[in-house]
Amino acid sequence: MEFAAFSRVCEQLEGLSGRLEMIDLIASVLPTLPDEELPIFVRFVMGRVFPDWSPQKLGIGPNLLYEAIGYVAGRKKAEVVAAVNETGDVGCAVEQLLATKSQTSFFVEPLSLAGVYADFTRIARTDGSRSQREKLKIIKGLLGNAGALEGRYLSRLLLEELRIGVGEGNVRDAIAGAFDVDAALVAHAHQALNDLGEVALLARTGAAALQDVHIAPFRPVKMMLAQQGTIAGMVEDHGAVAVEYKYDGTRFQFHKVGDECRMYSRRLEEVTGAVPDVIEQLCTATTHDVILDGEVIAVSEGRPRPFQFVLRRFRRKHEVEAAMEKIELVPNVFDVLYLDGETLIDRPFSERREVLTEILSEYVAPQWVSDDTGALEAVYQDALDAGHEGVMVKTRGAAYTPGVRGRNWIKVKPAVDTIDLAVVGAEWGEGRRAHLFGSFLLACQDESGELLPVGKVATGLSDEDLAFIYRHLKEFVVAEKGKEIVLEPKAVFEVGYAEVQKSPNYVSGYALRFPRFVRLREDKSVAEIETLGGVAARYEQQFTSV
Ligand code: ATP
Repeated sequence: MEFAAFSRVCEQLEGLSGRLEMIDLIASVLPTLPDEELPIFVRFVMGRVFPDWSPQKLGIGPNLLYEAIGYVAGRKKAEVVAAVNETGDVGCAVEQLLATKSQTSFFVEPLSLAGVYADFTRIARTDGSRSQREKLKIIKGLLGNAGALEGRYLSRLLLEELRIGVGEGNVRDAIAGAFDVDAALVAHAHQALNDLGEVALLARTGAAALQDVHIAPFRPVKMMLAQQGTIAGMVEDHGAVAVEYKYDGTRFQFHKVGDECRMYSRRLEEVTGAVPDVIEQLCTATTHDVILDGEVIAVSEGRPRPFQFVLRRFRRKHEVEAAMEKIELVPNVFDVLYLDGETLIDRPFSERREVLTEILSEYVAPQWVSDDTGALEAVYQDALDAGHEGVMVKTRGAAYTPGVRGRNWIKVKPAVDTIDLAVVGAEWGEGRRAHLFGSFLLACQDESGELLPVGKVATGLSDEDLAFIYRHLKEFVVAEKGKEIVLEPKAVFEVGYAEVQKSPNYVSGYALRFPRFVRLREDKSVAEIETLGGVAARYEQQFTSV
């Protein structure tokens, strides 16, 4: 497929608002693609370049892109930034600049989907001191061969933000429609493979291929997530339930085959090198080939330490040894997804738990099973007394559903209202903070992943926080207008607030009252932030929970 044709599909999709129309359009394209391009199209149309589980990352910030587009369009970087400021969107700015560029090359080669993907792979592979220059060269080559409309989508893809409102749900349904297979089967295969591109290829060969997928070691699966609820509610709905401590640490997925062990974070990044002690502990605790799910906590003097301690260890790859002396990490394993060549995720939790206690000699998270609300409330109290966050209440008959935030896992913790939001903008600070960002514009997401601001946060941030956040966010600056900065939405803040109010000031229709910074959620991606529906529910709850 020519990249120009792909761009036209994107343009059409961008103009549609109905979910069904979008699905139909995507479904009409999928069967026309050859096998090599089908997975690429599927990922590209969602604004993704590589499978979620893949360690390959493009790692391109707006600055590098601006430099490349400046070169290709024969403009100064400042002019590129001005165009982005004016249009408010990198893609539209690139489109305009390419449309007005004077013809500089007679040797324009049409871009194909496969060709663009091959160049993206080269970008991801560049490494070492010359990598920025190498990347720049490849991007210049791509943009030099792009027409105006292609430039719009190429530049957005380079930043992995397509902004055409196509999410995983739409693409799953389109695959089912295009190849006439059951949507539930597509979803099932997606859970195990964690790449809709590969799922589309299997769907093309028929339902049997989808049925036959298995999770595999060294290919991380999305983690199952929890909703909020109460112990009493779960007992009422299910009778006997399983209760475990809710550890305030960092989620991990541990994969082992023979002597080879690897660890993945909640965002499915490999963190093996950062936690050699935990790897060693788990590796020696079982003789089996496994995929385990758990939470690693930092412990000192017998008490769990705050979440930031663990994260620091995950981050500081170079200083691991020094950090190991200071912070002792302890894994708590609460699930097993794979054992010696067999997928366990479809088995009921009670069976998986039994397997877990049989195969792991240590580190299994304690569990209490009961239908007695009072007894389970006592476990909750013990959890808080021991310094944990609360408890997790789990139904015993449920399968492990990767990536799903369902009612089979319920978290119970003291009511502190915090909300996870994407950082979409910032303003420069004042006085001694003038060289740092001082306040941040925060957004929730609607169903299609569009980001809708709900407030600004400027309190709760120490000088140390601000300096750290600045270092973290400065590479995501898209545009700057006076004091206001537009940021590529990559970072997630957890913030506290007094109340959710209705507000005409934001397109979301809501605003947070007295937002207060709690922490930077490096373990969460923007796809995991609160939804508009969630914000609305929080608003409504204020009237019912008194
Ligand atoms: P929070 O911000 O409350 O930690 P979250 O959005 O990070 O929630 P949830 O899915 O809502 O994640 O809550 C489940 C999280 O709790 C898991 O991702 C995991 O990191 C953590 N956790 C701690 N102990 C357990 C446990 N025993 N079972 C499952 N998850 C646990």
